[in-house]
Amino acid sequence: MVVIAAHNPDGEVRKNSSAGGVFSILARNVIEQGGKVYGVGFNSRWSVVHKRISSVENLSELRGSKYVFSDINTTAALIDADLKSGKKVLFTGTPCQVAAIRKRFGENDNLLLVEVVCHGAPEAKYWERYINELCENRGMTRDDIASINFRDKSTGWKGYSFTVVFKNGSVFTQPASKNLYMRAFLRDYTLRKACFRCPFKYPDGSKADVTLGDFWGIENLAPQIDNNLGTTIVIARTENGKCCINMIDKEGCFTLEQVSQYNPAITHPASQPLKYETFIREADACENIIGLFDKYAGIKRLESLKDFARRILSRIKK
Ligand SMILES: Cc1cc2nc3c(=O)[nH]c(=O)nc-3n(C[C@H](O)[C@H](O)[C@H](O)COP(=O)(O)OP(=O)(O)OC[C@H]3O[C@@H](n4cnc5c(N)ncnc54)[C@H](O)[C@@H]3O)c2cc1C
Ligand code: SF4
Repeated sequence: MVVIAAHNPDGEVRKNSSAGGVFSILARNVIEQGGKVYGVGFNSRWSVVHKRISSVENLSELRGSKYVFSDINTTAALIDADLKSGKKVLFTGTPCQVAAIRKRFGENDNLLLVEVVCHGAPEAKYWERYINELCENRGMTRDDIASINFRDKSTGWKGYSFTVVFKNGSVFTQPASKNLYMRAFLRDYTLRKACFRCPFKYPDGSKADVTLGDFWGIENLAPQIDNNLGTTIVIARTENGKCCINMIDKEGCFTLEQVSQYNPAITHPASQPLKYETFIREADACENIIGLFDKYAGIKRLESLKDFARRILSRIKK
């Protein structure tokens, strides 16, 4: 196993990627060899789906994490046809989706399986309700949306924001630490139940050739490369994976133990919140999902007082 830190040398691609943009380096290489890339994007209704991409220009549709369990649909049948016609294929997804593709196609030199480090993925039904309500509260519909970014880095890689831009030019943007969809996700209420017993963790569970994640803990492990623009941690697990990451300029080599101490999702499933079952029962019965996210994961009085104190302190320091 090889564990490296890296980023995309193209600053624009790095900015539009969740971490350092290494996914785009691997994907470009496959497309330039005439191959196909499968990954997660939005459809025309802003639902989260797996897509097949054939050109470097369209790779932007897959760039960036969408924190929703994607609809994988007919992807396996399309991969089958691509492999049978001798094309190279790169498939990216969560570790459980990658394991399902590995089970179907086995080891194949033309198939590169790339997973994201996965702390858990929210059920699509929560995303569908959230985005509907967000639009309705602004007197708009999903057709009025121009773009959605779960990892808007204009406020920095570590302090990223959730941003929706509407076609009329209005913008909804909040730091992820304050956005209720992201808070319910990061506090594990909206995760699929299977995520709490995820068997696809390192060191033994992964079935991928390559794993990509955020290099959280960079300020402790490699402060010399920490510039808050985003760095990807890349784990090559198989010979195919090691061969593919040769083309990437590495900024440092690490051990699995070093990186997982700051990124527990690499090795451990999330813990089920005590009130998870009550949350899902209430979610099925309630009309207002944003209100429910607020009830279970909203900013509580103590947290907002701490936040206020932090902001005052940072102003005094300036
Ligand atoms: C649900 C989810 C949970 C995650 N949890 C963690 C975590 O706990 N710790 C961590 O370090 N990293 C996590 N990540 C991964 C991280 O956010 C970055 O995707 C990863 O670091 C790669 O970044 P990049 O800059 O190299 O490329 P990017 O351009 O950001 O990578 C995009 C890649 O992510 C894939 N992708 C996007 N949305 C989804 C989705 N819904 N399901 C499956 N694949 C998707 C795309 O197909 C593409 O391959 C998570 C990602 C997702 C989708
Ligand atoms: S945590 Fe495991 S089961 Fe849940 S989406 Fe991620 S890989 Fe799949």
